[in-house]
Amino acid sequence: MTKRVVLIGHPVAHSLSGAMQQAAFDSLGIDARYELWDRSPMELADTVAELRTDEFLGANVTIPHKERVVPMVDRLTDEAHATGAVNTITREGKRLIGHNTDVPGFRVALDRLVGKQKMPRQAVVLGAGGGARAVVYGLITEGFQRIIVFNRHLHRAEGLVKHFGRSAAHMELRAMPWHESIIDSELAKARVLVNATSIGLTTEDSPVPAESLHGDLLVLDLIYARTRLLSDAAAAGCTVADGELMLLHQGAAAFTLWTGQPAPLELMQRKLAEARAGGLRSAEGEPTGAPADAQGEPPVAGTPADPEPAAEGTPADTEPAAASAPD
Ligand code: NDP
Repeated sequence: MTKRVVLIGHPVAHSLSGAMQQAAFDSLGIDARYELWDRSPMELADTVAELRTDEFLGANVTIPHKERVVPMVDRLTDEAHATGAVNTITREGKRLIGHNTDVPGFRVALDRLVGKQKMPRQAVVLGAGGGARAVVYGLITEGFQRIIVFNRHLHRAEGLVKHFGRSAAHMELRAMPWHESIIDSELAKARVLVNATSIGLTTEDSPVPAESLHGDLLVLDLIYARTRLLSDAAAAGCTVADGELMLLHQGAAAFTLWTGQPAPLELMQRKLAEARAGGLRSAEGEPTGAPADAQGEPPVAGTPADPEPAAEGTPADTEPAAASAPD
């Protein structure tokens, strides 16, 4: 019987994950199909319940469900528990286990960005969603001493800080309101800037003014594209990287969890590059322009979407993936 792995999100019209995971299953002769399931928040509990049968190896979970799905699984790994976000589900019999492979994915991206330099201790994080939670947890566990989180809706950044209260007790983790002057002054003190918002995913906007970027910054944009932020940062002399490595390594870790086999990294990276050349920029299946948190939208029909990712959407940005990381 062909096993199924599903990506649950809203929207998931196109997907980079689909491109790399299906190729990985096929290349190792694993009889499994990666399907895209576009499910509204209201449908989430029933959707997760479906995964408890033998048919399924597991699932990926993405925007906007990573936090909402936490109480719907039977057990959380340490990283899923610590972040309060799940991006991968595996099955043990009828029990579902929630994992967060964004955390190891982020660690690989951070290590590559920092290269041979000493790991910095001060970071600014933009965003407070599921991706930002993995980033903040990764920074805390790397030994960062000061992390400032900015978010458009301040209360969400405050919630994130509160969530990490205990694991951040030894260091300074603070939420601050999204004002250009405050961001500017915090960036002047920071060595690492991570964009974990979706600003730049579908537009040429940058979350920070170019003038706030100084050449000592290491800048990571979780978006899998050469965003305006990364172009401005490179022009300012910063070391920059996009979300490719994080995406690749979170996917590789998920693959191993579902199959018990090492992931074919080179192949997965090549498939990502091909999907990107076809215009895809996000793991989840944006850009469709649809709001990520469209609670009020009518439920989407239950048939799985075409597992072959469509090569359309925002015009391709064909610049190389991870730019000038210094190793
Ligand atoms: P969420 O929907 O959970 O969070 C989205 C974040 O973006 C929130 O902080 C939100 O702020 C902010 N945001 C969205 N639009 C705007 C705007 N117009 N102005 C200011 N802030 C805005 O998404 P995720 O955390 O899962 O993902 C965030 C980004 O990170 C996406 O682009 C995603 O593709 C990328 N990502 C990449 C990964 C990788 O492997 N490379 C892994 C995970 C994420 P607010 O709370 O105020 O709405």
